[in-house]
Amino acid sequence: MFRSQGKTIGFVPTMGALHAGHLSLIQSSVKQNDISIVSIFVNKTQFNEVNDFENYPKPIEKDVEVLQKNKVDYLYIPEYEDIYPDNYQFRVVESHDSTFLCGKSRKGHFEGVLTVVMKLLHIIAPDKAYFGEKDYQQYRLIDKMCKAFFLDVDIVPCPTIREPDGLAMSSRNLLLSEKERIIAGQFPALLQSDQTPSEIAAKLEQLGFRIDYITDTDGRRFGAVYLGNVRLIDNVEL
Ligand code: AMP
Repeated sequence: MFRSQGKTIGFVPTMGALHAGHLSLIQSSVKQNDISIVSIFVNKTQFNEVNDFENYPKPIEKDVEVLQKNKVDYLYIPEYEDIYPDNYQFRVVESHDSTFLCGKSRKGHFEGVLTVVMKLLHIIAPDKAYFGEKDYQQYRLIDKMCKAFFLDVDIVPCPTIREPDGLAMSSRNLLLSEKERIIAGQFPALLQSDQTPSEIAAKLEQLGFRIDYITDTDGRRFGAVYLGNVRLIDNVEL
């Protein structure tokens, strides 16, 4: 409808519990497009642990207020059945890049991510879609998927927004205890230090983190750790 009127559409897919990281994507969309659409959908198929899905924060009223204040034109809040009328019978499978880093320890995660993004891009049909570099592996996979399937959309990467102590903003940060939240700042600090990945992993373990991976690849350093049950991920350019 808007495209036929010559208007450009910017799209920001999210899982809600909106914070300043999401807002930077939204503000870029509002600046660069005539119409901005945000979706909130906690996508069950990308969660490899039922508890993680059930505990995921869902402050929908607060989110709506934030979107109204930030001049978003439309909010799309689908139900599972709207996105998966096939009950996830059909999926997007990637066979290489999704087998490393987060894909290695979170079986099926990127299948769920790529499938939902493919579906959302078809439903919304935006000119540009905005993704955070905080989830760098995800951004790269989505960009490559759109090119591989000749989708007519620009995938726009947006820099990671951080808390004052350097912790990358994330909806899951709300699930950290007060004590864990203080320790969490050591994760980005060590990731950005000039120590080797194994030295960083050892220091984080001493501080009480459980390590999934700390890995240098493609000119970036990637890390995924747990504090209690909360998984934190981050990456920095080397
Ligand atoms: P999520 O709601 O966690 O699925 O995130 C929705 C979008 O916001 C994804 O493209 C994320 O990469 C992006 N995002 C989440 N946190 C941040 C952050 N701290 N800085 C930049 N982008 C972010």
